[in-house]
Amino acid sequence: MNSWSYYELQRQIEYKARWEGLKVIYVDARGTSSLCAACGSKLNSNSTNRQLWCPKCKILIDRDVNAARNILARGLGSALTPQPCEAMVQEWRKPNPESRW
Ligand SMILES: [Zn+2]
Repeated sequence: MNSWSYYELQRQIEYKARWEGLKVIYVDARGTSSLCAACGSKLNSNSTNRQLWCPKCKILIDRDVNAARNILARGLGSALTPQPCEAMVQEWRKPNPESRW
């Protein structure tokens, strides 16, 4: 799969989801790697590894795990609102500061 383009990956995911009867929801990934999934604060980068520091939560978190949590939260947020079609581009929303992981 490393040689696939993003379009091909997207096409395969949509195909397999449709096959299984699952809904595909697109979210804006902007900020998912730089904002804390727990509180929405700007994360500080640690250049020696892939971990980020949240000065508000006082936690170190893997940047990919944090991004995945933000994307999940955005997807779940849009899954709870009426959808005009199966796949759509969702507007970026600030993460809920009250939510904790
Ligand atoms: Zn935080």
